[in-house]
Amino acid sequence: MSKQADQRIAELSDALEEHNYRYHVLAEPGVSDAEYDAMMAELLTLEEAHPLLRKADSPAQRVGGEPTSDFPSVRHSAPMLSLDNSYSRQDVLAFDQRVRDALPDEEVSYVAELKTDGVALSLLYENSRLVRAATRGNGTQGDEITANARAIRAVPLRLRFSGVNCEVRGEVYMPRSAFATLNLNREKRDLPLFANPRNSTAGTLKQQNPGVVASRDLRFFAYWLARADDPAATHTQHLLTLRELGFPVNPAYANCPHMEAVFEFYARFESERDALDYEIDGIVIKVDELNQQRRLGATAKSPRGAMAYKFRASQSRTVLREIRLQVGRTGTVSPVAILDPVLLAGSTVRRATLHNDDEIRRKDIRIGDTVILEKGGDVIPKVVGVEAEDRPPGTDPFIFPNTCPACSSELVRDAEEAAIRCLNPACPGQLKRRLGHFAGRNAMDVEGLGTALIEQLVDRGLVRDVGDLYALDRDSLAGLERLGDRSAQSVIDNLDHSRQRPFDRVLFALGILHVGTTVARTLAAAFPSVELLAAATLEELEAVEEIGPTIARSINDFFRNPAATALVEKLKLAALQLEASAPPSAQRQSYFTGKTVVLTGSLQRYTRDESVELVERLAGRVATSVSGKTDIVVAGEKAGAKLAKAEQLQIEVLDEEAFLAHLATAGVE
Ligand SMILES: [Zn+2]
Repeated sequence: MSKQADQRIAELSDALEEHNYRYHVLAEPGVSDAEYDAMMAELLTLEEAHPLLRKADSPAQRVGGEPTSDFPSVRHSAPMLSLDNSYSRQDVLAFDQRVRDALPDEEVSYVAELKTDGVALSLLYENSRLVRAATRGNGTQGDEITANARAIRAVPLRLRFSGVNCEVRGEVYMPRSAFATLNLNREKRDLPLFANPRNSTAGTLKQQNPGVVASRDLRFFAYWLARADDPAATHTQHLLTLRELGFPVNPAYANCPHMEAVFEFYARFESERDALDYEIDGIVIKVDELNQQRRLGATAKSPRGAMAYKFRASQSRTVLREIRLQVGRTGTVSPVAILDPVLLAGSTVRRATLHNDDEIRRKDIRIGDTVILEKGGDVIPKVVGVEAEDRPPGTDPFIFPNTCPACSSELVRDAEEAAIRCLNPACPGQLKRRLGHFAGRNAMDVEGLGTALIEQLVDRGLVRDVGDLYALDRDSLAGLERLGDRSAQSVIDNLDHSRQRPFDRVLFALGILHVGTTVARTLAAAFPSVELLAAATLEELEAVEEIGPTIARSINDFFRNPAATALVEKLKLAALQLEASAPPSAQRQSYFTGKTVVLTGSLQRYTRDESVELVERLAGRVATSVSGKTDIVVAGEKAGAKLAKAEQLQIEVLDEEAFLAHLATAGVE
């Protein structure tokens, strides 16, 4: 058995590594994501059953590292120098001249590559296995982040040839699409947004939990190789070798016998850069002959045989009139620049993000300054700097207030998220945002309850928490600005209607940190009343599929707050749905009662939504992924990885016929 398992583990490991190579290096995936997931699930199961057969470079062990509290400092074998860089064509021509002067009577040829806007990484391989990964740091010493680098699928754990000792350097980056998704999810959770993909890449690599790194879709481009007894004569050969060893190498590079070819490459990618799914901030020009590179040597700071030729970003300049502090739903206070309107990349900009206090101080941004605006990979314009010489006399550095702009209570600095928060549960600034969230389309969906009305309701003291909304009547709304009798009545009617929104919508509307629409549905299914949810312990919460420690902690904190308890009482009196529509006592006992069910593939008889509803009506829980917590998998046509995983975990599988039979027994036709 163990011999068989050994062989199967080797087969699966090879197949998964091969797929990684095809996906990240050749850009031609060999198997579907579903097949990949199924193989990974099988490998994980085998390794769990046979821990002695588990190898350090197994593809299933990418996230095996324990969370670390610090990253030890390590010394680079050769300094990781930074490149001389310039935006000017003149400087590039001068660089070429210096190179040719230093190598008289020699042919000189260049390689032009794209300069990915990411984070430099050094990877050390011994006997073809990844043994150490480190950041650039100060160039001489960096942070050892091996566990995090292992969690990046584009970084090979094992080279494709045996017995190789080498160091590889390259750039870790986050694709624009992944960056957009990440920020969207953070926005939903009211977490501070990352400024750009480089920023989020750097933040991710500093994570102390490799699991977070694995979840963030980081990529890697290799561009530098050092090995003993190196047969290569040129940088171009290094790029080819890197690819053969199993590293992703950006295919967009050009061999340039003269500067005209370099300028062509630059012009081409300056105009095409927006179409790439990763950010580049220029090109890198390197002397191709390694021997010439060595003879050119380096200054204290940079090699003489290479330079970066950077693109100018799309920028505008305008005057900063005000720095307004915005209080978020969970109390995050973020600075917003209010600007004289200016055209930037085709649209008029009046506001821009200043990110946080640290950024304002680092750039010394002052009110009255002419600021430089840029549109990066994301659509939110940002202030990237100030024109120091245009600064009017008499300005002062901006001092971030110690107190909340909405309620004057003391602000607290959350170092981990670089955020500044107002912790006052009664803060009117937070309340306005919470009301907006509560009335939003995915929450209670109260039409007519918009920003202008919310402002007045809070400022006039008519509403002190979301529960007060249900005490509003025509008298209390009378006399509000820009609200006629008819609109007032319609808001009251819409509020009345919203009492029918199901429990999970109410849960989402409460605005508990980390509880989005999906989590709210999961919670409502697992704890079908607000009392059950409020009484749930951390362990009980975490036992639910898809509820991790962060969410569990947040829910627990919320219900331990007396203000929240009072609010829930108020909502109960207002007759909101604080129980799932069919309480357990009214539900029929069935085959599915209390079981966790995963639906996969398509059924002839019911749509997915209908099946979910049926299982829930019969007191079953529906989860989206198969795990040890799953009791039953219902597999329809074209069931894929989930079915495979269910079989490996020996979970009961029902086909459509068996599913319908159990429904019929429970009285559902
Ligand atoms: Zn406040």
